Amino acid sequence: MAKVKIMDIVLATRNKKKIEEIKKIMSKVISGADINIYTPDDFPQCLEVEEDGDTFEANAVKKAVYISKCTGMTAIADDSGLEVYALNGAPGVFSARYAGESADDRANCEKLLHEMSGFPDEKRKARFVCCIAVASGDDVKTFFGYAEGKIGKVPRGKKGFGYDPLFYPEGHSRTFAEMSDEEKNALSHRGKALNKLQEYLKEKGSHHSSHFIVF
Ligand code: IMP
Repeated sequence: MAKVKIMDIVLATRNKKKIEEIKKIMSKVISGADINIYTPDDFPQCLEVEEDGDTFEANAVKKAVYISKCTGMTAIADDSGLEVYALNGAPGVFSARYAGESADDRANCEKLLHEMSGFPDEKRKARFVCCIAVASGDDVKTFFGYAEGKIGKVPRGKKGFGYDPLFYPEGHSRTFAEMSDEEKNALSHRGKALNKLQEYLKEKGSHHSSHFIVF
């Protein structure tokens, strides 16, 4: 009988769209594995991790190491955001709370459009960044994915989340929010970082722990 690999994943982000995206990509990344998705509520002993790092990598590592130690399992954490070159990399690690602590996607997009009002095309270049950290205790490895593109002048499209309605990936005339999930995942920072993770997991082989947590 074929051996079925079971993978336990906790998606700690409360962003439903991001959870759907990661689930979809993960099911392709680890083909042939049965994936169990958990939420942070399944680990009440683990506290919320404050994302107070200066970089995506610092935040992803902090979350993965803490959760690995707290659960005793291998943990996978992701941190991501948008960097606008002409804004010196803003909103960067503040992407989720650019317009304030409890700001929603719409408010963040409005603030970005306001900050960039009057910016000509050549100053609208930006990139999405995703850092994924895999930790077994203090043993941690990181993977980066980037999506280069530019920021539009008005929101377009209803799919995706965050800054998707404003982001035109390089070489495309539609925003991420106008693309199907498959199209976006093939171009996105998260899709690319997860592909690198896939390569790493393949290299590690089947002896690698099959319990993973995504925070
Ligand atoms: P976090 O990684 O959960 O801290 O989220 C970072 C923030 O970056 C999100 O709330 C979005 O505002 C933005 N972001 C990250 N990835 C994407 C994406 O794929 N599309 C649009 N916005 C994104």
